[in-house]
Amino acid sequence: MSTIALAVHGGAGTIARELMTPAREKAYRDALELALKRGHAVLKEGGTALDAVEAAVRALEDSPHFNAGKGSVFNADGQHEMDASLMNGSDLRAGAVAGVQNVKNPISLARRVMEKSSHVLISGMGAFEFAHKQKIELEDDQYFFDQFRYDQWKETVGTDVYTLDHSDKEKKFGTVGAVALDAHGHIAAATSTGGMTNKKWQRIGDSPIIGAGTYANDATCAVSCTGHGESFIRAVAAHDVHALMAYKGLSLQEAVRVVVHEKLPPLDGDGGLIAVDRNGDIVLDFNCTGMYRGQVGTDGVFHTAIFR
Ligand code: ASP
Repeated sequence: MSTIALAVHGGAGTIARELMTPAREKAYRDALELALKRGHAVLKEGGTALDAVEAAVRALEDSPHFNAGKGSVFNADGQHEMDASLMNGSDLRAGAVAGVQNVKNPISLARRVMEKSSHVLISGMGAFEFAHKQKIELEDDQYFFDQFRYDQWKETVGTDVYTLDHSDKEKKFGTVGAVALDAHGHIAAATSTGGMTNKKWQRIGDSPIIGAGTYANDATCAVSCTGHGESFIRAVAAHDVHALMAYKGLSLQEAVRVVVHEKLPPLDGDGGLIAVDRNGDIVLDFNCTGMYRGQVGTDGVFHTAIFR
């Protein structure tokens, strides 16, 4: 069998080990494993990396444990505004949505933008209209509600504080993403998020920005990021991993290390990323205490982890 590889993340952040009960840890790991299974099933059947990352991210969006799709954080108006993007490494096609509401799986809407529109990134009401037209599955506000995230929002609402879903030790973590290599030698990346708690003014993070939160190029690697979005945008983090490999000849591991541990920290870029290259090498790295993550290769063995 040709090499296949898949990695997923459910957000990076400061996770206090003592606050993690065995039951909680199991719930997160099960959700990560389910996402791996969904994506791996696609790859095993000879499906594309793009289909695999979409399937894996949809599973994570459907889980209330992560800040994407169901369980997305609340913005300053008490609403859920979601961002998502994906990129196909073989032809550099990409699609993204920002600030969308009531879309059950923003990652699938991003894919429609890529395949059914002549644009790369659409936002807000326009994206909602497009979702309608594409007959994308919609849900009412109640579907996205999560008590934990509501309580989290209540602590900051009415202030100018906006928080990373994972900047508080007790909180559940966030943004989700996937990267994959398929049996045809192609790679793809996908990222989806509810953004930051109490965000205002239709703030948009790195997740729907191609090159910042998501990037894929068959020549080098596929990358999905999680962390303080503003810093990842300024670092053009995902593309920088590609650039270090393409222009400097660094290995995937070395390129990721430079971005995560040298370039992001001076920009207050707490977080991490997952990446895969065309050989099927996977790197999962972060500059904070932990990152919800998982991976599976050609051997079909699923690995999940949270702490370092
Ligand atoms: N990167 C996301 C954002 O800034 C947040 C996260 O990774 O949890 O919107």
